[in-house]
Amino acid sequence: MDGVDPMSQSKSTSHFTLRSLRALRAKAMRRPEDFAATVPVTTLEGLLSAKIKSGDPYSSRRTKKPSRKVALQLEYDMETALYIALASNELSRYAEALRCCWALLGIAKGDWVGIFDYGTSPVSYLASSTFTPYLQRGAADILGCLPICNDGAANLSRRAVDIVKFVRPRVLFLRTDCLHPFTTEINRGSVPLYSYVDTLVAVENEGVPSRAERDTYQANLGVPIYRLMRADAAMFLAPECRRCSLFHVWSYLYHVETPEQRADQETGRQASRLVITNWFATSRPTIRYVSQINAVLQPAGCPAEARDLTISA
Ligand SMILES: [Zn+2]
Repeated sequence: MDGVDPMSQSKSTSHFTLRSLRALRAKAMRRPEDFAATVPVTTLEGLLSAKIKSGDPYSSRRTKKPSRKVALQLEYDMETALYIALASNELSRYAEALRCCWALLGIAKGDWVGIFDYGTSPVSYLASSTFTPYLQRGAADILGCLPICNDGAANLSRRAVDIVKFVRPRVLFLRTDCLHPFTTEINRGSVPLYSYVDTLVAVENEGVPSRAERDTYQANLGVPIYRLMRADAAMFLAPECRRCSLFHVWSYLYHVETPEQRADQETGRQASRLVITNWFATSRPTIRYVSQINAVLQPAGCPAEARDLTISA
């Protein structure tokens, strides 16, 4: 551990150093059971309390020498707003996570990609360097795609349908809470959605639509719908794979745990809150963040990417 005690470093996220983060990462890789047993979790309530108590908009999440470039409000309905701040190199890594998602979803050079989501969603602001200051290359820039955004408000569904009709993006990302108004709007017309779009991707912060809900919309719209996991407080993204139907996670970006298996009330399946550690958020670390996402870690071995971590939800 290079003489660093991760426990003493992680009682308050404000005490992290880059050195202790490297030590934690080594521990998570070599002795994940020790990592889980000794490193305290981070919760949304804890971040809220730290912000109120300290007056620090970033909830006292910082290493000793933070460099701040872009500050973003997190999408949580709480009594006070929470924020993250990302330096240029962190934006690059986060955009790399989105690029991995896009690539696994089959998005490739030359594709148009529609995004029906808020500007503060990473699905939007990490898409292109033209959208975000200090972002050198967004997912679309890296892959050679062309993104087009529509703000993710339900009353803008008509414009989303116009974008679909006139731009014909091959893939459309849309917020889960816009699925219903978008479906209603597209069904007002006479031309089915599959005439314009190949694939939909449903996305929401700290949640995924159930498979049953997805299947209902899929049958209604006649277009395959995949889901994208998102936990903005942990700067986490994970896409549902077209091959294995599991969510893929890249271990060089994140460490994930599902420690408390219990029966999911809705499905009866064993599930746990997904606990996320982010390895690229070094200026304001997120260690063992307990998300609201219910999931189960699955054995690796997808035919598409055999070494990726995989999660069911
Ligand atoms: Zn897969």
